[in-house]
Amino acid sequence: MAATKKDIRALTKEQLREFFEKQGDKAFRGNQVYEWLWQKGAHSFEDMTNVSKETRQMLEDNFVINHIKVDTMQRSNDGTVKNAVRLHDGLIVESVLIPTATRTTACVSSQVGCSLDCRFCATARLKRMRNLNPDEIYDQVVAIDNESKLYFNRPLSNIVFMGMGEPLMNYNNVIKAIDKITSPEGLGMSPKRITVSTSGVPKMIKKMADDDVKFNLAVSLHSAIDEVRTTIMPFNETFPLEDLREALEYWYAKTKRKISYEYVVWKGINDTQKDIDAFVKFCKYVPCKVNIIEYNPIDDGEFQQASNEALENYISHLEKNRIVVNVRRSRGKDIDAACGQLANKS
Ligand code: SF4
Repeated sequence: MAATKKDIRALTKEQLREFFEKQGDKAFRGNQVYEWLWQKGAHSFEDMTNVSKETRQMLEDNFVINHIKVDTMQRSNDGTVKNAVRLHDGLIVESVLIPTATRTTACVSSQVGCSLDCRFCATARLKRMRNLNPDEIYDQVVAIDNESKLYFNRPLSNIVFMGMGEPLMNYNNVIKAIDKITSPEGLGMSPKRITVSTSGVPKMIKKMADDDVKFNLAVSLHSAIDEVRTTIMPFNETFPLEDLREALEYWYAKTKRKISYEYVVWKGINDTQKDIDAFVKFCKYVPCKVNIIEYNPIDDGEFQQASNEALENYISHLEKNRIVVNVRRSRGKDIDAACGQLANKS
C-alpha cells in the first residue's frame, strides 16, 4: 500500500530547508518553496514556476498541498459573504466576511463542530469532529481576504475567531495560524486587528497571558450569574464565573489589555434587573468594553431576542457605570451567517 504523503504545509521553514539539504539540494530552495506556499498561496507544485521541473516532481512524489476549497459562497443582501469551505478530508466549516463602511472583518472557524454545548448555538448541534490545522485556519483568512479585495476593493482589516468551534480548545493550532497571519512571510497583519473570542476557558486564558500574545481577547459571557450561565452554557459548571474572573484578572495584570464581553440578552432568560446588576458588577473586576449582540434565532431554538426595553435597560445601567457599550446589529441573517447560526446548512 502506498504511504500517505505528508502535507508540506505542516513543515516549518527550517524543516523545509533541511529537507532540501537532505536531498542534496541547496537549503535556499526551502525558502523559495515556503514563499510559494505561504505568501503566494500556491495550490499545486505546478504553480511554483521558478522551481525546476525535476524539483517540482520530487515534491509531488513526497508531499501534498492540502488546500481548502470554497465549496459554496453566499452573499447576503447586506453585503455579508458566507463561505462553506471543504477541507481535504471532505468535512466542511464555514467562515464569514462582514463588511462595514470602515472595515472588512473575517469571522473564521477553529474546529469542525464544537467541543462545547452552548444551548443557543447552531454549531453546538454538530458534534466536534476534529480540530482545524493551522493551514486550514490560515486558508480561510486568505480566501476572505481575496473576496474582500474582489467585492469591496480593499484588503481584510480585522479577524475574529468567532466562527465554528472554541478556539481555546484548539489553542496550539490557532496560535500557529495567527503567527502565520501576522508574519511578514504570511499576510503581515497586525495582531491588534485580531480577536480571539472564547466562551471562557480559565486555564487557557492564563496560558495566553503567560505566552504574551498580542491579539485581543473577547469572552462570550451572556450571564454573570452562575445558575443562569450554566443553563445556557452548561460547561460553566466546570468553569464557574469565579474561576473565569480570576483568569481575566490574571490576563489584565499581565497584558494590560482590556477585555471585550460579548453578551446576548434573551427574553425570560437574562433580561431582569438582577441579571443587569450582576453583569455591571462583573464588568468592574477588569477594564472592559461590552458588545451587546442581537440574537438570531436558530431553527427550533427556544431562545428569543429580548425586548428593546430590556436592551435599553442594560445599556443605560452599563453607561451609568462608565462602561463602554456597543450594540452589534446582526449581519447576514438571510444566509444564516450571523453569530450562533453557523451549522453547515448551505
Ligand atoms: S457558541 Fe461557540 S463555544 Fe459555544 S457551542 Fe457555539 S461555537 Fe461552541
